[in-house]
Amino acid sequence: MHLYIHVPFCQRRCSYCDFSIAVRKQIPAREFVDVILKEAGGHELNDLETIYFGGGTPSLLPPEGIAALLHELTPEAAAEVTLEANPEDVTAEHAKAWRAAGINRVSLGGQSFDDNVLKWMHRSHDAAQTHRAVQALRDAGIENISLDLIFGLPEELNRDWDQDLEIAVALRTTHLSLYGLTVEPRTPLDRWISRGATHAPDEDRYAEEYLTAHRRLTTDGYQFYEVSNASLPGYRSRHNSAYWSGRPYVGLGPAAHSFDGRTRRWNLRAWEAYRRAVAEGRSAVESEETLTEEQRELEAVYLGLRSSDGIAVGTGSIRAVPGWLEVRDGRLKCTPEGWLRLDSLVTHDSSTH
Ligand code: SF4
Repeated sequence: MHLYIHVPFCQRRCSYCDFSIAVRKQIPAREFVDVILKEAGGHELNDLETIYFGGGTPSLLPPEGIAALLHELTPEAAAEVTLEANPEDVTAEHAKAWRAAGINRVSLGGQSFDDNVLKWMHRSHDAAQTHRAVQALRDAGIENISLDLIFGLPEELNRDWDQDLEIAVALRTTHLSLYGLTVEPRTPLDRWISRGATHAPDEDRYAEEYLTAHRRLTTDGYQFYEVSNASLPGYRSRHNSAYWSGRPYVGLGPAAHSFDGRTRRWNLRAWEAYRRAVAEGRSAVESEETLTEEQRELEAVYLGLRSSDGIAVGTGSIRAVPGWLEVRDGRLKCTPEGWLRLDSLVTHDSSTH
C-alpha cells in the first residue's frame, strides 16, 4: 500500500503554478493534522510501503505536525517516506526533526540555480539556499535527495540550461526530476503571455533542452527510468514507481487522488471545502471514475512506455518506429526522442511543485 498526503499550503503562488493550493501566512497545522487523521480513519492503511507528503509546500508544516501524522498513521516505519520541501524551509533544525520523525527522502523544489530565473518564477529561495539545503539534509542523515529542475523557459530569460545541469550533476543528489514549463490557464505566466510581456515557451528549445539533459545525465551516471525522472543506481522513487505501474494507493487531503486498481477517486480541491466536509463527517470525495478493461489496458501501455522498462510485446505484434520506439529483450521501449513525443501528449504533470 502506498499513501499520499497533500499539504495544500504555500506562502505565495509561483508564476507557472495552477495547483490546488491555499496561500497562507500562518499554516493551520493543528487543524490540518486533525482533519487528515479523521479522513484516514475511513481507509485501511496497513503495511505502508511508501508515504509521500506532496503539495503545496509540505515543508511549511511544522516538524511536530509531520511527526504526529507519521506516528498515528504508521506504527511501523515505511520503507520510503518522502517530504517535498522548498529550499528556504530546510534549516539544520528542520532537517534533524524530519529525520527523527521518519522522513528518509526529500524532494527539493530547486527549479534553477539562476537567481533571476527564480525571481521570475516567483520562487521564495535563491540558488545559495538550495546548496545549503542539500548540505543540511546530508548533515542530518538524509542522503536520498531528489532535485526538481524546470526547463524550456522563455528565451528572453537567457537561462543557461547547460550550467544548471552542470551544477546539479556536481551536487550529486540521488535523484533528479525534470519538468518542461507548461502554460496553464489563469496563472500569472498565462497573463504575462496574453499581454505580450513574455513569450510562450518555444517547442524547439524544449526538445533541445530535454535531449541535452538526457545526454548529460546519462553520461554522468544517472539512469533515466521514466520520461521526467533520473536517478543514481538504486535510487528510483518507489512511491512514484508504484503510480506508474498501476498499483493501488490512498490519497489524503484536498485534491488527493486514490486508486484501488479499478476505481479512481479524487477529493474536493479547495482546502476550505475539503476541511468542512471532513469536519462535518461528510465524504471528502468530489468524484470518481471506474476504468473499463480497455481503459486499464491503454493506461498500462501509456505508463509502461513512459518508463525505461517499456512494455512486453508478443513476437511480431508491434514493430519498432526508428528513432522513437525500439524493441529490446522482447520489450517495446521509447528512445529519448520517443519520450519527448510521448510527453507532449500529456497536458500536465501533477508531480511538479
Ligand atoms: S509551484 Fe509549488 S511552491 Fe510554487 S505555488 Fe505551486 S505548489 Fe506552491
